[in-house]
Amino acid sequence: MTVRSSARRRTLVGCAALLLASTACAALPDGDDRTTAAAPERRHSGDPLPPAARPVVVLPGRALQEEDSAQAAEARQASARGEALATAQRWGLAALPLAAPPPPPTKPELTAGPHVKVQDGAPPVVYRVPTDRPVVFLTIDDGAEKDPELLRMLADLRVPVSVFLSDYLARADYGYFRRLHAQGVTINNHTIDHPDLRTLAADRQQQEICGQQDRLEEEIGTRPTLFRPPYGEYTDVSLRTAAGCGITAVPLWNEEAFPDHMDYRYDDRRLHAGDIILTHFRGPSLWNGDMTQMLRRVIDTATAQGFALARLDDYL
Ligand SMILES: [Zn+2]
Repeated sequence: MTVRSSARRRTLVGCAALLLASTACAALPDGDDRTTAAAPERRHSGDPLPPAARPVVVLPGRALQEEDSAQAAEARQASARGEALATAQRWGLAALPLAAPPPPPTKPELTAGPHVKVQDGAPPVVYRVPTDRPVVFLTIDDGAEKDPELLRMLADLRVPVSVFLSDYLARADYGYFRRLHAQGVTINNHTIDHPDLRTLAADRQQQEICGQQDRLEEEIGTRPTLFRPPYGEYTDVSLRTAAGCGITAVPLWNEEAFPDHMDYRYDDRRLHAGDIILTHFRGPSLWNGDMTQMLRRVIDTATAQGFALARLDDYL
Protein backbone atom coordinates (compact mmCIF):
# COMPACT_ATOMS: atom_id res chain seq x y z
CA MET A 1 0.00 0.00 0.00
CA THR A 2 1.52 3.31 -0.98
CA VAL A 3 1.35 6.55 0.92
CA ARG A 4 -0.49 8.14 -1.95
CA SER A 5 -3.24 5.48 -2.14
CA SER A 6 -3.85 5.65 1.62
CA ALA A 7 -4.11 9.39 1.50
CA ARG A 8 -6.57 9.16 -1.36
CA ARG A 9 -8.63 6.68 0.71
CA ARG A 10 -8.72 9.18 3.59
CA THR A 11 -9.93 11.83 1.20
CA LEU A 12 -12.83 9.64 0.12
CA VAL A 13 -13.76 8.87 3.73
CA GLY A 14 -13.69 12.56 4.54
CA CYS A 15 -15.93 13.26 1.60
CA ALA A 16 -18.35 10.59 2.76
CA ALA A 17 -18.53 12.07 6.24
CA LEU A 18 -19.26 15.48 4.84
CA LEU A 19 -21.74 14.11 2.31
CA LEU A 20 -19.86 15.86 -0.44
CA ALA A 21 -20.61 13.09 -2.81
CA SER A 22 -20.63 14.80 -6.13
CA THR A 23 -18.36 17.40 -7.64
CA ALA A 24 -15.65 18.05 -5.04
CA CYS A 25 -14.82 14.39 -4.40
CA ALA A 26 -15.63 12.90 -7.75
CA ALA A 27 -13.50 15.50 -9.44
CA LEU A 28 -10.34 14.41 -7.67
CA PRO A 29 -8.28 12.57 -10.34
CA ASP A 30 -6.28 9.42 -9.57
CA GLY A 31 -2.94 11.09 -9.99
CA ASP A 32 -3.69 14.09 -7.81
CA ASP A 33 -1.48 14.05 -4.72
CA ARG A 34 -2.17 17.47 -3.26
CA THR A 35 -3.79 15.87 -0.19
CA THR A 36 -0.80 13.59 0.32
CA ALA A 37 1.51 16.49 0.94
CA ALA A 38 -0.80 18.06 3.50
CA ALA A 39 -1.45 14.83 5.49
CA PRO A 40 1.60 12.59 5.98
CA GLU A 41 0.78 8.89 6.24
CA ARG A 42 1.76 7.24 9.53
CA ARG A 43 0.25 3.83 9.01
CA HIS A 44 2.43 0.90 7.91
CA SER A 45 1.63 -0.55 4.57
CA GLY A 46 0.18 -3.77 6.11
CA ASP A 47 -2.22 -2.04 8.53
CA PRO A 48 -5.91 -2.82 8.03
CA LEU A 49 -8.22 0.02 7.30
CA PRO A 50 -10.55 1.19 10.05
CA PRO A 51 -13.80 -0.77 9.55
CA ALA A 52 -15.93 2.29 8.89
CA ALA A 53 -13.83 3.25 5.93
CA ARG A 54 -14.12 -0.04 4.04
CA PRO A 55 -17.53 0.24 2.33
CA VAL A 56 -16.85 3.78 1.25
CA VAL A 57 -13.62 2.77 -0.46
CA VAL A 58 -15.02 -0.35 -2.05
CA LEU A 59 -18.34 1.10 -3.18
CA PRO A 60 -18.21 4.81 -2.52
CA GLY A 61 -21.23 5.69 -4.67
CA ARG A 62 -23.58 3.13 -3.14
CA ALA A 63 -22.49 3.76 0.46
CA LEU A 64 -22.96 7.48 0.08
CA GLN A 65 -26.38 7.01 -1.49
CA GLU A 66 -27.53 4.68 1.30
CA GLU A 67 -26.35 7.02 4.03
CA ASP A 68 -27.84 9.95 2.23
CA SER A 69 -31.23 8.30 1.60
CA ALA A 70 -31.54 7.04 5.21
CA GLN A 71 -30.84 10.51 6.54
CA ALA A 72 -33.15 12.07 3.98
CA ALA A 73 -35.96 9.65 4.89
CA GLU A 74 -35.49 10.49 8.59
CA ALA A 75 -35.53 14.18 7.83
CA ARG A 76 -38.65 13.80 5.68
CA GLN A 77 -40.43 11.87 8.46
CA ALA A 78 -39.53 14.46 11.08
CA SER A 79 -40.66 17.25 8.80
CA ALA A 80 -43.97 15.49 7.96
CA ARG A 81 -44.65 14.92 11.66
CA GLY A 82 -43.86 18.55 12.44
CA GLU A 83 -46.21 19.67 9.69
CA ALA A 84 -48.98 17.33 10.87
CA LEU A 85 -48.59 18.61 14.44
CA ALA A 86 -48.77 22.22 13.28
CA THR A 87 -51.92 21.43 11.24
CA ALA A 88 -53.55 19.67 14.19
CA GLN A 89 -52.75 22.64 16.42
CA ARG A 90 -54.10 25.09 13.86
CA TRP A 91 -57.46 23.28 13.95
CA GLY A 92 -57.44 23.25 17.75
CA LEU A 93 -57.03 19.49 18.21
CA ALA A 94 -55.85 18.28 21.61
CA ALA A 95 -53.43 15.75 20.06
CA LEU A 96 -52.18 14.45 16.73
CA PRO A 97 -54.95 12.19 15.27
CA LEU A 98 -54.04 8.52 14.96
CA ALA A 99 -53.42 7.33 11.40
CA ALA A 100 -55.81 4.67 10.08
CA PRO A 101 -54.21 1.38 9.02
CA PRO A 102 -54.35 0.59 5.29
CA PRO A 103 -57.77 -0.71 4.14
CA PRO A 104 -58.29 -4.44 4.73
CA PRO A 105 -57.44 -6.55 1.64
CA THR A 106 -60.94 -8.02 1.78
CA LYS A 107 -63.99 -6.46 3.42
CA PRO A 108 -65.10 -8.13 6.70
CA GLU A 109 -67.75 -10.81 6.33
CA LEU A 110 -71.11 -9.58 7.63
CA THR A 111 -72.72 -12.38 9.60
CA ALA A 112 -75.70 -12.05 11.92
CA GLY A 113 -74.89 -10.90 15.45
CA PRO A 114 -75.65 -8.19 17.99
CA HIS A 115 -74.28 -5.46 15.70
CA VAL A 116 -75.24 -6.83 12.28
CA LYS A 117 -78.71 -7.87 11.10
CA VAL A 118 -78.86 -10.18 8.11
CA GLN A 119 -81.80 -11.56 6.13
CA ASP A 120 -82.19 -13.23 2.74
CA GLY A 121 -82.59 -10.91 -0.23
CA ALA A 122 -81.71 -7.83 1.83
CA PRO A 123 -78.50 -5.88 2.39
CA PRO A 124 -77.07 -6.37 5.91
CA VAL A 125 -77.93 -3.67 8.48
CA VAL A 126 -74.76 -2.73 10.34
CA TYR A 127 -74.34 -0.82 13.62
CA ARG A 128 -70.73 -1.82 14.19
CA VAL A 129 -68.39 -3.16 11.50
CA PRO A 130 -66.85 -6.49 12.57
CA THR A 131 -63.14 -5.65 12.87
CA ASP A 132 -60.39 -5.92 15.49
CA ARG A 133 -58.60 -2.91 14.08
CA PRO A 134 -58.58 0.23 16.25
CA VAL A 135 -60.79 2.19 13.86
CA VAL A 136 -64.17 3.93 13.99
CA PHE A 137 -66.14 5.53 11.16
CA LEU A 138 -67.68 9.00 10.95
CA THR A 139 -70.78 9.43 8.80
CA ILE A 140 -72.49 12.76 8.07
CA ASP A 141 -76.17 12.88 7.08
CA ASP A 142 -78.80 15.02 5.31
CA GLY A 143 -76.90 17.91 3.64
CA ALA A 144 -78.43 21.14 4.98
CA GLU A 145 -75.30 23.02 6.12
CA LYS A 146 -72.63 23.51 3.45
CA ASP A 147 -69.75 24.88 5.49
CA PRO A 148 -66.59 25.54 3.41
CA GLU A 149 -64.49 25.38 6.58
CA LEU A 150 -65.43 21.72 6.93
CA LEU A 151 -64.01 21.02 3.45
CA ARG A 152 -60.75 22.72 4.43
CA MET A 153 -60.52 20.92 7.77
CA LEU A 154 -61.16 17.49 6.25
CA ALA A 155 -58.57 18.13 3.53
CA ASP A 156 -55.95 19.53 5.92
CA LEU A 157 -56.28 16.72 8.44
CA ARG A 158 -56.91 14.02 5.79
CA VAL A 159 -59.75 12.64 7.88
CA PRO A 160 -62.01 10.17 6.04
CA VAL A 161 -65.79 10.52 6.37
CA SER A 162 -68.78 9.07 4.53
CA VAL A 163 -71.77 11.18 3.59
CA PHE A 164 -75.47 10.23 3.26
CA LEU A 165 -77.47 12.82 1.31
CA SER A 166 -81.16 13.61 1.09
CA ASP A 167 -81.91 15.31 -2.20
CA TYR A 168 -84.33 17.86 -0.75
CA LEU A 169 -81.51 19.37 1.34
CA ALA A 170 -78.53 18.76 -0.94
CA ARG A 171 -80.10 20.03 -4.16
CA ALA A 172 -79.56 23.72 -3.27
CA ASP A 173 -75.86 23.18 -3.92
CA TYR A 174 -74.73 19.78 -5.15
CA GLY A 175 -71.49 21.55 -6.12
CA TYR A 176 -70.48 21.54 -2.45
CA PHE A 177 -70.86 17.77 -2.31
CA ARG A 178 -69.05 17.31 -5.63
CA ARG A 179 -66.10 19.16 -4.03
CA LEU A 180 -66.34 16.85 -1.04
CA HIS A 181 -66.42 13.86 -3.40
CA ALA A 182 -63.36 15.20 -5.22
CA GLN A 183 -61.54 15.13 -1.85
CA GLY A 184 -62.13 11.36 -1.64
CA VAL A 185 -65.41 11.37 0.30
CA THR A 186 -67.96 8.79 -0.83
CA ILE A 187 -71.49 10.14 -1.27
CA ASN A 188 -74.24 7.71 -0.25
CA ASN A 189 -78.03 7.51 -0.29
CA HIS A 190 -80.36 8.96 2.36
CA THR A 191 -83.57 9.18 0.21
CA ILE A 192 -85.09 12.04 -1.77
CA ASP A 193 -87.37 13.67 0.84
CA HIS A 194 -86.24 12.11 4.14
CA PRO A 195 -89.55 10.35 5.02
CA ASP A 196 -90.15 7.73 7.69
CA LEU A 197 -90.14 4.76 5.29
CA ARG A 198 -92.39 2.73 7.58
CA THR A 199 -95.27 5.02 6.59
CA LEU A 200 -94.86 4.57 2.81
CA ALA A 201 -96.24 2.00 0.35
CA ALA A 202 -93.76 -0.02 -1.75
CA ASP A 203 -93.98 2.22 -4.84
CA ARG A 204 -93.29 5.37 -2.80
CA GLN A 205 -90.34 3.68 -1.10
CA GLN A 206 -89.05 2.79 -4.55
CA GLN A 207 -89.24 6.47 -5.57
CA GLU A 208 -87.49 7.60 -2.40
CA ILE A 209 -84.65 5.07 -2.42
CA CYS A 210 -84.05 4.28 -6.08
CA GLY A 211 -84.93 7.84 -7.12
CA GLN A 212 -82.06 9.10 -4.94
CA GLN A 213 -79.72 6.49 -6.42
CA ASP A 214 -80.43 8.03 -9.84
CA ARG A 215 -80.13 11.63 -8.58
CA LEU A 216 -76.75 10.98 -6.96
CA GLU A 217 -75.44 9.19 -10.02
CA GLU A 218 -76.51 12.21 -12.07
CA GLU A 219 -75.15 14.87 -9.69
CA ILE A 220 -72.04 13.22 -8.26
CA GLY A 221 -71.15 10.81 -11.06
CA THR A 222 -71.15 7.57 -9.07
CA ARG A 223 -73.97 5.28 -7.96
CA PRO A 224 -73.96 4.64 -4.19
CA THR A 225 -73.69 1.18 -2.65
CA LEU A 226 -74.57 2.27 0.92
CA PHE A 227 -78.02 3.41 2.05
CA ARG A 228 -79.12 4.85 5.37
CA PRO A 229 -82.88 5.10 5.99
CA PRO A 230 -83.99 8.39 7.60
CA TYR A 231 -84.29 8.15 11.42
CA GLY A 232 -82.77 4.67 11.11
CA GLU A 233 -86.30 3.35 10.47
CA TYR A 234 -87.14 0.85 7.70
CA THR A 235 -89.22 -2.19 6.76
CA ASP A 236 -88.37 -5.43 4.93
CA VAL A 237 -89.72 -3.73 1.80
CA SER A 238 -87.22 -0.86 2.26
CA LEU A 239 -84.31 -3.29 2.39
CA ARG A 240 -85.45 -5.36 -0.59
CA THR A 241 -86.12 -2.19 -2.58
CA ALA A 242 -82.64 -0.89 -1.76
CA ALA A 243 -81.06 -4.20 -2.83
CA GLY A 244 -82.97 -3.94 -6.12
CA CYS A 245 -81.30 -0.65 -7.05
CA GLY A 246 -77.71 -1.43 -6.16
CA ILE A 247 -77.41 -1.11 -2.36
CA THR A 248 -75.12 -3.69 -0.70
CA ALA A 249 -75.17 -2.54 2.97
CA VAL A 250 -77.25 -0.37 5.32
CA PRO A 251 -75.01 1.24 7.94
CA LEU A 252 -76.80 2.65 11.01
CA TRP A 253 -74.86 3.89 14.09
CA ASN A 254 -73.88 3.38 17.71
CA GLU A 255 -72.89 6.96 18.60
CA GLU A 256 -74.05 10.42 17.60
CA ALA A 257 -71.69 13.41 17.56
CA PHE A 258 -72.50 17.05 18.32
CA PRO A 259 -70.18 20.05 18.64
CA ASP A 260 -70.44 20.00 22.43
CA HIS A 261 -70.95 16.32 23.31
CA MET A 262 -71.21 12.71 22.15
CA ASP A 263 -74.25 10.45 22.64
CA TYR A 264 -73.48 6.77 23.19
CA ARG A 265 -75.84 3.84 22.61
CA TYR A 266 -74.22 1.74 25.34
CA ASP A 267 -73.81 2.46 29.03
CA ASP A 268 -70.02 2.12 28.94
CA ARG A 269 -70.09 5.45 27.08
CA ARG A 270 -67.09 4.72 24.93
CA LEU A 271 -66.19 3.85 21.35
CA HIS A 272 -65.54 0.26 20.23
CA ALA A 273 -63.53 -1.04 17.27
CA GLY A 274 -65.70 -0.77 14.16
CA ASP A 275 -68.29 1.60 15.65
CA ILE A 276 -70.18 3.82 13.23
CA ILE A 277 -70.67 7.41 14.44
CA LEU A 278 -73.56 9.49 13.11
CA THR A 279 -73.59 13.25 12.75
CA HIS A 280 -75.35 15.83 10.51
CA PHE A 281 -74.59 18.77 8.25
CA ARG A 282 -75.96 21.40 10.65
CA GLY A 283 -75.22 25.05 11.29
CA PRO A 284 -74.87 27.05 14.50
CA SER A 285 -78.59 27.92 14.47
CA LEU A 286 -79.42 24.28 15.22
CA TRP A 287 -76.34 23.38 17.20
CA ASN A 288 -74.33 24.80 19.99
CA GLY A 289 -71.39 25.17 17.60
CA ASP A 290 -70.38 24.64 13.97
CA MET A 291 -69.22 21.76 11.75
CA THR A 292 -65.53 22.21 12.57
CA GLN A 293 -66.26 22.08 16.30
CA MET A 294 -68.23 18.89 15.76
CA LEU A 295 -65.35 17.34 13.80
CA ARG A 296 -62.84 18.45 16.43
CA ARG A 297 -64.89 16.74 19.13
CA VAL A 298 -65.09 13.48 17.15
CA ILE A 299 -61.37 13.40 16.33
CA ASP A 300 -60.29 14.27 19.88
CA THR A 301 -62.69 11.68 21.33
CA ALA A 302 -61.41 8.97 18.98
CA THR A 303 -57.75 9.86 19.59
CA ALA A 304 -58.17 9.94 23.37
CA GLN A 305 -59.77 6.46 23.27
CA GLY A 306 -57.07 5.02 20.98
CA PHE A 307 -59.00 4.97 17.68
CA ALA A 308 -58.27 6.29 14.21
CA LEU A 309 -61.03 7.44 11.87
CA ALA A 310 -61.16 5.15 8.82
CA ARG A 311 -63.19 5.12 5.60
CA LEU A 312 -66.45 3.22 6.04
CA ASP A 313 -66.58 2.40 2.34
CA ASP A 314 -63.29 0.49 2.65
CA TYR A 315 -64.94 -1.90 5.13
CA LEU A 316 -68.54 -2.18 3.85
ZN1 LIG B 1 -81.35 12.13 8.16
